[in-house]
Amino acid sequence: MATVEWRSPASEMAVKQLEVAAERLNLDSNVAVRLRRPDRSLIVSVPTRMDDGRVHVFTGYRVQHNDVLGPFKGGIRYHPDVNLGEVSALAMWMTWKCSLVGLPLGGAKGGVACDPMQLSRAELQAMTRRYTAEILNFIGPEVDVPAPDMGTNEQVMAWVMDTYSQHKGHAVPEIVTGKPLDIGGTLGRREATGRGLTYIIIEAAGHLGMDLSRATAAVQGFGNVGSVAAKELADLGVKVIGVSDQSGGFYDEAGLPVHRMLEYAAKNRDLSGCPYGHPVSNEDLLTLKCDILVPAALGMQITGRNAGKLRCRVLAEGANGPTTLDADEILREKEIFVIPDVLANAGGVIVSYFEWVQDLQNFFWTEAEVNKRLRDILSRAFQEVLKVSLKEKVDMRLAALMIGVSRVARAMLWRGLYA
Ligand code: NAD
Repeated sequence: MATVEWRSPASEMAVKQLEVAAERLNLDSNVAVRLRRPDRSLIVSVPTRMDDGRVHVFTGYRVQHNDVLGPFKGGIRYHPDVNLGEVSALAMWMTWKCSLVGLPLGGAKGGVACDPMQLSRAELQAMTRRYTAEILNFIGPEVDVPAPDMGTNEQVMAWVMDTYSQHKGHAVPEIVTGKPLDIGGTLGRREATGRGLTYIIIEAAGHLGMDLSRATAAVQGFGNVGSVAAKELADLGVKVIGVSDQSGGFYDEAGLPVHRMLEYAAKNRDLSGCPYGHPVSNEDLLTLKCDILVPAALGMQITGRNAGKLRCRVLAEGANGPTTLDADEILREKEIFVIPDVLANAGGVIVSYFEWVQDLQNFFWTEAEVNKRLRDILSRAFQEVLKVSLKEKVDMRLAALMIGVSRVARAMLWRGLYA
């Protein structure tokens, strides 16, 4: 992504991470040069009839980074800041994530630049269906399988599935994951990312000798990932002292009533006006003294500006790309144990993979089977990353990227260059 088309702060960060891993791995330069940029990128116009009768044209994207290991896989994001560079970075991280945890899938990402909170249900549905129609020939169950990401949910996935199926003339549940159970979704997908994050935190606590029943946590973002992570951590006995969403944050040294806050957020769409704890800004939430800090909202939240003020022992990255390169350096000096996004939030794509497998086989698993397989994969991945980190004397992010990148590179070398 060195070329101008994909350039953005996020894509520059993703490419730099790749370069550091490539150098450390002594990667074949012909492979490295190819991995810097995505296989394909699509920009589409998404004309949408708004409730007032006007047509608004949104901009949508689908970027496919690398499919050497299998079909492309990656979420669809609805957020005002979505742009080609950000989507490209997210697609690249998906490649490393799938490879790291051993899934036979490649990396992709999509999105529409919009504010879903400002759209009515009818507008959201119309925009989603037209976006799906615009990328229809670019995706497919054996080609590229979308999933939810920030700003999208199981309802949006149901509309994607229905639009694709209407065009094909029959139901194609395996076109998308994160669907409702009633139309071929899997048990455990909604909770998968936050639950997986908790499994990984359990592994980290084991390594660090941290007693989770006496630990404290703060979580930024109270959506799919953040709210489930907060709930799972609280269920483990961790005292959740801070949570936030885009409306602001709440803090209580004695521990917040996470279950009641979940009910409040479900009823009110977000946490604004929540009667629990004391208000805290998103900026201050990140610097609370706690054992475990979980950024689970936007990218680039921990930067050179605030990294020095972090007071956590473990940083578990629920969000994609929450930590900038300069912040990483500061965290290393401060000896904060960083569990990188490609490992910490991989639970989502793992259970998405399970959903795709179940749809292809028309045979569905129990939630206990889903969770057990998820935990097995994540525990193994954590231990592999830890082993490389200790052996190579590198941090967990570089260790995870080295594993992810080297598997993709090996597959590319076996398959050779088609010319
Ligand atoms: P979501 O839309 O369900 O929730 C996002 C949350 O972030 C909301 O609570 C929102 O209010 C909050 N938020 C937005 N801006 C904020 C700000 N400035 N400060 C604090 N909070 C803010 O999204 P999600 O699916 O939970 O995704 C969150 C992150 O996790 C994203 O980075 C996404 O890429 C990543 N992720 C998601 C999945 C998944 O399965 N959904 C999987 C892997 C990674």
